[in-house]
Amino acid sequence: MSTRFSDRMRSMKPSTIREMLKMTERPDVISFAGGLPAPELFPVDDIRVAAERVLVEAGAQAFQYGVTQGIAPLREQIAVEMADRGIACDADDILITTGSQQGLDLVGKIFIDAGDAILTENPTYLAAIQSFQCFQARFQAVPTDDEGIIPEAVGELAAQTRFRFLYVIPNFQNPTGRSLSLARRHRLMDIARRHDLTIIEDDPYGRLRYRGEHLPPLKSLDTDGRVIYLSTFSKTVAPGFRTAWAVATKDVLDKLIIAKQAADLHTSSFDQLVLDRYLRDFDNRKHVARVCAAYGERYGVMADALAAQMPEGFSWTQPEGGMFLWMTGPEGFDTLPLFRRAIEHGVAFVPGGDFFVGDEGRQCLRLNFSNAQPDDIRRGIERLAGLCRDSLGN
Ligand code: PMP
Repeated sequence: MSTRFSDRMRSMKPSTIREMLKMTERPDVISFAGGLPAPELFPVDDIRVAAERVLVEAGAQAFQYGVTQGIAPLREQIAVEMADRGIACDADDILITTGSQQGLDLVGKIFIDAGDAILTENPTYLAAIQSFQCFQARFQAVPTDDEGIIPEAVGELAAQTRFRFLYVIPNFQNPTGRSLSLARRHRLMDIARRHDLTIIEDDPYGRLRYRGEHLPPLKSLDTDGRVIYLSTFSKTVAPGFRTAWAVATKDVLDKLIIAKQAADLHTSSFDQLVLDRYLRDFDNRKHVARVCAAYGERYGVMADALAAQMPEGFSWTQPEGGMFLWMTGPEGFDTLPLFRRAIEHGVAFVPGGDFFVGDEGRQCLRLNFSNAQPDDIRRGIERLAGLCRDSLGN
């Protein structure tokens, strides 16, 4: 039998890195590679109580089909959370999605025709690249620096070409850990208005701030409905719920709902109900504060270990929250062979190249600090620094 796959599958390649990352699951490997929240911090006891209450109160109804937009009580709670982040919306402006990953897929579906151009940070979230690649998007990378995406560069590009949207992660970006500065948030919104640009704001990490003040989401500065805001419970409660949300104007939301209907009818009723009960009956802010304290400590341990041990020529970002930092080696340094040697020596990271649209980033790598204990972080960085020194030949 000759199996005929769609044209789109030609642009979708398995990631060699993902294959190699399977090796990082060996117990002797200290992994800074994944993007996993710390499971020992999941509020399992409270979730158990919430689940029991749902089973008693809703019974069989908890397992019935539901509406595509998501259960109203959860959307109402999200609207309150949105107000807290400076975003004025009500439950009707919210769509529950099966993870923000689905939000990205739905956005791709409703906006991108094959060959359409979109703007992204460079580097950016690997699975967003994959998601938009599925719709055969053409990627245009926007230059970024320590303050995030450069708004004027967006303006220059948007003056030349019509882009379907700009995809941006303003808080503790994956993979760099960088945040878009306040001044740039305002300038980016001005430029988007001037060039009539739609913005997809992906904000899974914003609440994981360990230092400094929260910055306003782009959506809170949006005066004409051009920002589609995505966020998730994956990092503030637990990713296994696969429950997240999108905030958008009615015309966009209606299209997202049609696309979601075709994808999965709705996000799991039971998961939504348990999350709703959990958020009502327990203090999730306190939980997030605990998560921030733990991640902040782990970040500090990693930052200190890097400062003490990394050889000259390497630099790294100093995020104020989130789960990642980003390291850049000297010109010509290649993190791919380093990765292979690192696995042999029991430490893992993600080489930087895959996060770029285009052929860059070989001298970069991403380190996750949320899912390793402080002692392992110290030992892992010691191993990594030793290997970097060896690679430089000193
Ligand atoms: N966007 C970014 C930037 C992410 O890092 C992630 C997950 N790591 C997601 C979206 C997807 O999150 P989820 O589907 O778990 O909500």
